[in-house]
Amino acid sequence: MNSTETSKVYFGSARQGRLTSKETLPCKLDLILEKLRIRERVKGESVAIKMHVGGHVGYSTVHPVFVRRVVDAVREGGGKPFVCDIIGNCHTAAQRGYTAETLGCPIYPTGGPDEKHFYIHKRAYKNISEWRVGGLLQDASFLIDLAHIKGHPSCGFGGAFKNLSLGGMMGPTRGAIHDTNHFEPYWFPEKCPDDKIIGKIIESCPFNALVRDKNNPREIHLHYEPCNQCGRCLKAAPEGSLFIRRENFWAFQEACAISAQIVLSTFEQDKAIFLNIANNITPVCDCFGFTSMFVLPEIGVFGSDDIVAVDAAALDMIAPCKVFEEALPLEMELQPNAGHPFQMMHGPYKDPYKVAEYGETLGLGSRQYELVDVLPLEKPRHAEAAYIPASL
Ligand code: SF4
Repeated sequence: MNSTETSKVYFGSARQGRLTSKETLPCKLDLILEKLRIRERVKGESVAIKMHVGGHVGYSTVHPVFVRRVVDAVREGGGKPFVCDIIGNCHTAAQRGYTAETLGCPIYPTGGPDEKHFYIHKRAYKNISEWRVGGLLQDASFLIDLAHIKGHPSCGFGGAFKNLSLGGMMGPTRGAIHDTNHFEPYWFPEKCPDDKIIGKIIESCPFNALVRDKNNPREIHLHYEPCNQCGRCLKAAPEGSLFIRRENFWAFQEACAISAQIVLSTFEQDKAIFLNIANNITPVCDCFGFTSMFVLPEIGVFGSDDIVAVDAAALDMIAPCKVFEEALPLEMELQPNAGHPFQMMHGPYKDPYKVAEYGETLGLGSRQYELVDVLPLEKPRHAEAAYIPASL
């Protein structure tokens, strides 16, 4: 798929016309799997279903009911499915309802039981020179990227790209991807000779995003995750000493696009599909190990052969939605003019579209897509009502 072509994205809305199970998301997922011809495509394949099985007490990840529909479809098509995720999540997956019994297939750590099975791919990007792809993921012959849509403190949002680019890599590479934010310098201590002012800059951040270096108290580190680009620190910092630059934020997203490209390069063409489940949308990612209140409406299920299009479509559908401000954790500040709802939560430089943009530039797909609703809503027609009063 090149960037000038139009991709198909199949969509099932969370909204129901009628109170019937066939209009609910799991059944719409079935229709999407049919449209993607999953059964015809997986015969004889070893199928890695890459998903995030959550952590600790999180319960807003992709529900086992959805995973089971995917697993059953693969089995019916003659494929050999397994679910995979990073090792720590797999070890506790049963506590959140993910077992071989509930899902219908085994759950494996992507790097094997001891994390020692991985493949090194050499590619230079900022602080990264090698990328370690989980061995079981690379060994599989067919990929199903089954992602949960949610907010993310590093880049605004997590979807198909994020699920693959972080979750498909081993721990050292995941850490290095997070460190790309720090590659371009942002703190220039020579422009701030007064130590008391350094203390004031650090104290000015209400989100504890700025910290002193343990070994060199004149060095400041910016934790990009809690930074919502509110600008308070810039008011305290002498000119030229501290920079909050969008390029630092975008580096993480470019690294995610490269990472996904590397993972996808291990699969033959047409041997990967991408599913985004946009429900139970929390402000931060599933790695946090808990579920906070849902901050956006239920959207639906998306499926495509194009990773760029499937993320772009989910973001476009969320774009006009109102953030449930009353559901946001009190420590988060909503910025109503920051752009996309995920930018309103995480700041304007955490543009959720960047990863799809970088992915398109790398030739992974197209941001032009045709959205095909697999079960369009039909409004039931009723005769005019003559409501009976509650009390006579
Ligand atoms: S911009 Fe705001 S959130 Fe970011 S480090 Fe500065 S004070 Fe903290």
